[in-house]
Formats: sequence, structure tokens, C-alpha cells
Amino acid sequence: MNAEILTVGTELLLGQIVDTNAAFIAERLAEAGIDVYVKTTVGDNAARIEAALIQALGRAQVVLCTGGLGPTEDDLTRDVVAKVTGRPLRLAPALLTQIQARFARRGIPMPKNNERQAQVPEGAEVLENPRGTAPGLLLRLPPDRTVILLPGVPAEMRPMLTETVLPRLREAYALKGQIRSRVLRTTGVSESKVDERLGDLWAESNPTIALLARSGEIHVRLTAKAEDEAALTRLLDHREAQVRERLGDIVFGRDEESLEVVVGRLLLARSLTLAVAESCTGGLLGHRVTNVPGSSAYFERGVVVYSNRAKTDLLGVPPGLIAAKGAVSAEVAAAMAEGMRERAGMDLAVAVTGIAGPTGGNPEKPVGLTYIALAHAGGVAVHEFRFFTDRELNKQRAALTALDLIRRHLLGLPPGPTL
Ligand code: ATP
Ligand code: MG
Repeated sequence: MNAEILTVGTELLLGQIVDTNAAFIAERLAEAGIDVYVKTTVGDNAARIEAALIQALGRAQVVLCTGGLGPTEDDLTRDVVAKVTGRPLRLAPALLTQIQARFARRGIPMPKNNERQAQVPEGAEVLENPRGTAPGLLLRLPPDRTVILLPGVPAEMRPMLTETVLPRLREAYALKGQIRSRVLRTTGVSESKVDERLGDLWAESNPTIALLARSGEIHVRLTAKAEDEAALTRLLDHREAQVRERLGDIVFGRDEESLEVVVGRLLLARSLTLAVAESCTGGLLGHRVTNVPGSSAYFERGVVVYSNRAKTDLLGVPPGLIAAKGAVSAEVAAAMAEGMRERAGMDLAVAVTGIAGPTGGNPEKPVGLTYIALAHAGGVAVHEFRFFTDRELNKQRAALTALDLIRRHLLGLPPGPTL
């Protein structure tokens, strides 16, 4: 079975947004064992959508389109599909009621335009979109073609694809076997190091292993093929154990488990509380900690102490210490963490101070030099890092590293990887 992806949107052609929908769909189709040979992108133009759709249907059994399903004049996909497939649009009263109810719940009158979204090509199956107003549509064209329309908004499209469309395709095309991936997330060592440690496992085929570098993390993706769920789980569990044995404590989580989620869970389990004091990360560490629902159970406060005066006023760092050692120094990082811990009355406090760049460095203290201190009941530990020359990257890496230091502290691990 083979499928094509057709993404619709002038912004995609202008490079104003990146076509993440096509990438996401391609990945999911590959996992389902469906071949994709062509991907097409067209603007919001009826004639060109029509031509692209006709071509795609000439080559592939399944065509998946995203975008252009909204209520506005430039949302043309639905009309074009009706024309190309010879299935005229009909008002679906139940769908209209649903869309009206959605607006009513939000307490706003439904714009007349949204009625368009209740127009469905004859014989099409309506795919519910619990996160938006534009429903998806699935249209069977005997003997063996299928056209699927999904909304452009990625947060709406993704769950519709995985929860509704893929199961339908599996059934309709009797796709045998299932593919499932599991991701083991690591941080603290380079991709080449992970690669080297996995060594002999690269030769193994089911599950296969792939590495992906994602903003400071290296993800090890395991992909297994099997006939049923139980077999998939068995294969993945076995490979996961082998990978963990080789990578040790750099593996911090699985699949959607971010570092802040893992840290939050550890803090909760130990009934410990946290505060953060940030200079160069400007609040990014606090942002990440509070990305986790329920973080108020362990996170009490964070301060951004960017200037020397703020470090003194809010954390009690002695001005003489800053003058003698510099704001970016192990001594000041330690004083920040201790001051924060004491003032907030928390179990743990983490402080970050560094030179984010691109300017402000010197041979002795280059751009990227960062100190992260962790104050706890037993004292304060300071760690020095030399990150990069890029400001944004330095901020991200500092926040990530601070989270990993907390994780390591809570697990009683050494501060750095032992690989
Ligand atoms: P809406 O009901 O919001 O109008 P729609 O189905 O009409 O949805 P579009 O108007 O084409 O979809 O796109 C809505 C938004 O979704 C775009 O502004 C863009 O942010 C995002 N989007 C659309 N297509 C893609 C894509 N291929 N990849 C990533 N994002 C996309
Ligand atoms: Mg739109």
C-alpha cells in the first residue's frame, strides 16, 4: 500500500511556517508500514490544489491532505475534493449542531462562515476534531482509493491521525503487523559517545535503534515490528534493558517524559521542595520547572537576579564577593544558591550564573562559561561548564544542565555522566 501527503497553505510555500505536518504524517505512515513516495505542497489556490490532488490519486491509493479546512474564503480543500471526486457537498445537520454547540460553550456567537465547515462531500465519513471546529473527512473512492482531509493546525491534526485515521487505514487495507517505537531520552553526553556505547546493538534488527539529537538531549529510538501488542512490548522491553545497561545513568526518561517531569516526580516522591535563582537563564529554568502540571507542590519560587544589585538585594550576595570574584564565578554561584535556599526556606536551591554571549567574554572567562550551584541540607556544590558561543543555545543548555544536576542529586548519582 502506498500513500501520498498533500499539504495546503500559501504560508508553507513562502517559508513562513515549516511543514511539520508532512514530517509527522510521514513518520507515522512509515511506522504503519505504509510507503510514501511523493509529498506535495500547494498554496491556497483551487486550480493548483485540484491538479495536485488528481495527480496524487493517479499514483497512490491513499492521499492525506492537511490545511484549508477552516471557515474562511481561502480554505478551499473541501470544495476541491468535492469537485475532483464528483461527490457534491451536502449540509450535515448533526455536524452543524456540534459546531454551534462548540461556540455556545465558549459563549460566543457562531460566525456565519463556520457553517461551511458543516458541508460534507456525499458519502464522506466525518472525523471528529475534539480540539477545534474543522472536522476531518474520510472519503472512500471504490475500488481502492481513499482521500483523507485533516485540519492544518498540528495540535488538532496529530491526535486525529493517530487515534482515528491510522486505525481506519489498517482495517481498510488489512495492514498486517504493527510497528511501535519507544524513545529513551538521555542527556549529558554527545551523540558520538552514545553511538559508541551502543556498539554491538547496532547490528540488531527487531527492534532497530536510531539516534536523534533534540535540543541538548540524545534520544535513542527503538522501533519494533510484531503481530500484536504483547509481542511489541516484549521486544521493546528486552531492547530497552540492553540499552540501559550500556548507557547507565544518562538515560533519564522515556517517550514524553521531559527532564522537568522526571525532576518533579523525584521531588514529590522525596517530599522535597525547590527554589531557583537565575542570572543568565533569565527565568528559563523556572519556566521549565513550572511546565509540569502540579509543580506548585514542590516549586515555591524563582527569582531572576540579572544585575549585581539584584543578587545582593534579593539573595544577600556580598557586594565585596562580586567585586573580588566577578558575577560569573563559582563563589558567587554558591552564594546565590545558599542565599536563595535560606530566604525561600526550601530543601533545595539551584543558582545559575554565566556569560550567555555573544559579547562579554574574555580569555579568562570566555562566552559560554557557566556556573551552576546546588544548595541542599548537606552544603552547596558548584559545577563549572563551558557551553557554546550562541546566546540562545547557552541559555537552553544551562537550564537543561541545571535540571539534570537536580535529578542526579536526588538520585544520589555523581554530578556528571559516568560513561
Ligand atoms: P483553521 O480552521 O485553523 O483555518 P485549516 O484546516 O484551515 O485550519 P490552515 O488554515 O491551512 O488550516 O492552517 C491553520 C494553521 O495551521 C496555520 O496558520 C499554521 O500555523 C498551521 N499549519 C497549517 N499547515 C501546516 C503544516 N503543513 N505544517 C505545520 N503547520 C501547519
Ligand atoms: Mg484556515
